[in-house]
Amino acid sequence: MACIEKIYSVSALMGNGACNAHCDFCAGKIHRRYSPKKDGDLDEELVKKTLTDCYYAGARSLSLTSSGEPTLSPVSVSRVLEIVHDLSFRGLDFPKINLYSNGIRIGQDEEFCQTYLGLWKRLGLTSVYITVHDLDERRNAEIYRINKYPSLQTVFDNIHGADLSVRSNIVLSKKNIGDFKRFKEMVEGLFDLGSDFISAWPIRDDNDEVNLDLAPNKEELTRMGGL
Ligand code: SF4
Repeated sequence: MACIEKIYSVSALMGNGACNAHCDFCAGKIHRRYSPKKDGDLDEELVKKTLTDCYYAGARSLSLTSSGEPTLSPVSVSRVLEIVHDLSFRGLDFPKINLYSNGIRIGQDEEFCQTYLGLWKRLGLTSVYITVHDLDERRNAEIYRINKYPSLQTVFDNIHGADLSVRSNIVLSKKNIGDFKRFKEMVEGLFDLGSDFISAWPIRDDNDEVNLDLAPNKEELTRMGGL
């Protein structure tokens, strides 16, 4: 059996896989068949054991994600955060906990933000990672294939309102953010809107490899890496 010597960070997939977007190239779709049917369905002992094992293997950073949109499974997110919080009282502390989101619910549902973001912060969440395709709301709505995408300013403000930091995860694609000039515009625009951190990655396929048909070419990716 292979032996893992050191783990630095761990990602936990949770929730029922529901999503409020309909992206053409959905990274979560292939994992959805393993999702529980209901928000809140969780093997708590497995979560505890996995996180404990990962902690002792060196993990101190935890990412919460889903095969859909995690903010649509708030009971599961809350329960996992409670488990992590309880572990911290046993000395197993994850000082960096991030939640991945497409930002739609955070930008559109004030009651959700008031109910959950502050609670999650108190349970140890430190940052929300927002997937960003564009600065323009209409263009984001087209890419997510929904009627209306909220303003990124509102999304970021609601996250900051709960004293959480924002990381923008820019999706690089030939069609949308395909060259250095466009990438630079995005980075500057996102910092202007208040993003605390920015990361970027080229669009990937079902095997988690860079999608050579859809991702920017190698030369442009190299230039972007030098920003
Ligand atoms: S937001 Fe994420 S999970 Fe939802 S459809 Fe798009 S890629 Fe899939």
